[in-house]
Amino acid sequence: AALLEAAGDPDGVTALYVLDETSPEARPLGGAARWWLHHSLRALRRSLAELGVPLTLRRGPAERVVPEVAREAGAQRVFWNRRYGPERDIDARLKARLRADGIDARSFAGSLLFEPWTIATGEGTAYRVYSAFWRACMREPAPARPLPAPDALAATPTPVPSDSLEEWGLLDARWAHTLEPYCEPGETAASERLDDFLDERVSDYDRARDVPSLPATSGLSPHLRWGEISPRTVWWRALEAAGAGHGIGAGTVHGTGPGADVGGFLSELGWREFAWHTLFHRGALESRGLDRRYDAFPWRSEGESAAETAAWRKGETGFGLVDAGMRELWQTGVMHNRVRMVVASFLTKNLLVDWRVGEAWFWDTLVDADRASNPFNWQWVAGCGVDAAPYFRVFNPVTQQKKFDPDGKYVDRWAPDSLLTPPIVDLAETRQRALDAYEQIRGLPRA
Ligand code: FAD
Repeated sequence: AALLEAAGDPDGVTALYVLDETSPEARPLGGAARWWLHHSLRALRRSLAELGVPLTLRRGPAERVVPEVAREAGAQRVFWNRRYGPERDIDARLKARLRADGIDARSFAGSLLFEPWTIATGEGTAYRVYSAFWRACMREPAPARPLPAPDALAATPTPVPSDSLEEWGLLDARWAHTLEPYCEPGETAASERLDDFLDERVSDYDRARDVPSLPATSGLSPHLRWGEISPRTVWWRALEAAGAGHGIGAGTVHGTGPGADVGGFLSELGWREFAWHTLFHRGALESRGLDRRYDAFPWRSEGESAAETAAWRKGETGFGLVDAGMRELWQTGVMHNRVRMVVASFLTKNLLVDWRVGEAWFWDTLVDADRASNPFNWQWVAGCGVDAAPYFRVFNPVTQQKKFDPDGKYVDRWAPDSLLTPPIVDLAETRQRALDAYEQIRGLPRA
């Protein structure tokens, strides 16, 4: 939306990407994410060059860098697509500052289906239960149709100088080696992935999405994370594939096309939406559990749990599904959703390690790590989040493996040696220890 708005400008366009890791509201990126960003920016630079505009790269606090570049370019207008996490305070200050300089500064919707302030309970508060949240979204007008890319752009007559992407040093050899065969950043790859999924896999999604050995899910999470595809594009193309190419609502997401029922898939996009809306309303999720009783939870100390946490990170716990998941993550930068839940439960419940330790590890190793979905889901598994799994629901990795990887294909692929590793804990004993720990906070006030 921001680019289209700028496209008609008679003074031409300067395209700017700011790497801001220094503003207090920014969260510095993890290693795998930096690798993805490098390649994503290369792809973006190519696409913009085809349209006739160079990509300017600058590093530093956005509040300082954007007005600087606007001055250098002689810009009278500055447009961007909105952010919904703590960074929106940076954007609000930036907007005020640009406007004080007489610049027309405006932001647009792009990365969510619904603006968070439009979805509220009857009392005007944020939803805390997913099903009620999603029903409320379904009652809203359909998300706007995705906008077309501009056919051509005119660059500002004197381009402003850019940093060199290569000199930003986003590529760490550790990630380059492993991720390359598995990841294809960029808008073109995102679009092809969506087409593939809708042509070949969506009709089987509800049945197969929990089986980690199958390529049954869309694989779109990193592309959504990096803005390489909009959730609105995913939404409308899925509905069209299902033959329900009009609005939303409980009836219409269930498609009428050949064998395609996209409601289950679209409600996963709903979880992404729920995580972002929660972040918008509740503030940084990575630092503190939303259920305040967990401030007093008796997590084991770092020293006490260090060896077991290290075994978890390396995928050497002796539990096949946990080890396979952790090694898949290390190798590919993603992990199947079912397995993410199992490894998170194992860390927070069987090892009684603070969920923030696991969240930070995922933050560093996931290519789709985002500021809403990652802490939101960790809190969900740990029991302290919104609509969280009840604390007493401890995933048993052995039972989960039997159920979702019965022929052992997934475990054989990623951790064939796990049977030879003695289990680092006793599941029944550690489950009981977790339940006892929970008893210590159960009666405390939540808020
Ligand atoms: P599909 O099954 O094809 O789903 C389509 C899209 O819906 C996904 O691309 C994603 O954008 C969204 N989605 C699906 N499930 C969820 C969910 N539970 N929460 C939020 N959005 C969802 N997802 C991230 O995008 N970034 C993260 O940092 C992240 N961290 C997670 C941490 C834990 C502990 C857990 C349990 C889950 C986490 N997830 C995260 C959610 C989920 O595991 C991934 O979105 C999913 O595995 C991506 O695969 P896919 O694109 O094939 O998903």
